[in-house]
Amino acid sequence: MKTIKIAIQKSGRLNEKSVDLLKKSGLSFENYKSSLISPVNNFPLEILFLRDDDIPEYVQDGIADLGIVGENVIAEKEVDVTYLQKLGFGKCSLKLAIANHSDINVLADLNGKSIATSYPVILNNFLQENNINAEIREISGSVEISTNLGLSDAIFDIVSTGGTLKSNGLKPFAEVMRSEAVLIGKNGIAKNPVVFELLQRIQSVLRAEQTKYVVMNASKENLPAILELLPGIKSPTIVPLATADWVAVHTVIPEKDFWDKINRLKTAGAEGIVVLPIEKIIL
Ligand code: ATP
Ligand code: MG
Repeated sequence: MKTIKIAIQKSGRLNEKSVDLLKKSGLSFENYKSSLISPVNNFPLEILFLRDDDIPEYVQDGIADLGIVGENVIAEKEVDVTYLQKLGFGKCSLKLAIANHSDINVLADLNGKSIATSYPVILNNFLQENNINAEIREISGSVEISTNLGLSDAIFDIVSTGGTLKSNGLKPFAEVMRSEAVLIGKNGIAKNPVVFELLQRIQSVLRAEQTKYVVMNASKENLPAILELLPGIKSPTIVPLATADWVAVHTVIPEKDFWDKINRLKTAGAEGIVVLPIEKIIL
């Protein structure tokens, strides 16, 4: 069978998390920094290490079958690929930003102004949708200093915490798109059995990352109130303890409402709560 190729970022913000995800999915490979291709020892897959900008086109053209890349880069390249899975890392937002003292107040004020960006395609689509006629100045990096240099009236760039904007005397003005890393595939590749298997494994890792395994003790008297709070995958496991009328309850809890759940369990009478990470959840 032809070896499937997956393209990931060679170095940068997505590299480590992409490598981690593939390793947690049970793939064994060397994370060579110097080579472009790394074979996987225990799965029919090869890993291509590329600049993130090249990944969407490589996948569209079938040079790679799969790729891990930010949605922002896919949107900028306007490629025709299949979205297989959102991956939950590399989260950021693409925003328009203006100087703190700018006279721009509403979107329409951008008419006739200049906007510096490294994402001209996404920006152009946004401006067209909003009937705004502004000049796009494409620059490849350090977009945030362009207003100070008098190169543009506004910028359009990736913002995560807003710290870089602030230190350059800018403030966010409008959010145009949110982005996170996604697994994409060449059209039609989802039917390939190797891809299907890899996707199952990746999904089992993602599911596990969003949940915790929780064990707690409770008296039988408090059990109904505790069970009311617990969905579990099917239902919680209840194990008798050596002490009469006490049980241990085992369950999984979604990370997002974790603290809220734990506090409510304590109030309902749960004691000795132990929380464990989960490696994989295979449904
Ligand atoms: P390459 O050398 O591969 O072209 P790059 O410099 O273009 O790398 P990085 O800065 O490593 O790219 O960012 C890769 C991706 O990480 C971005 O396209 C975006 O999807 C995501 N990302 C998440 N948070 C941020 C952030 N604060 N700044 C920039 N990118 C971010
Ligand atoms: Mg890049």
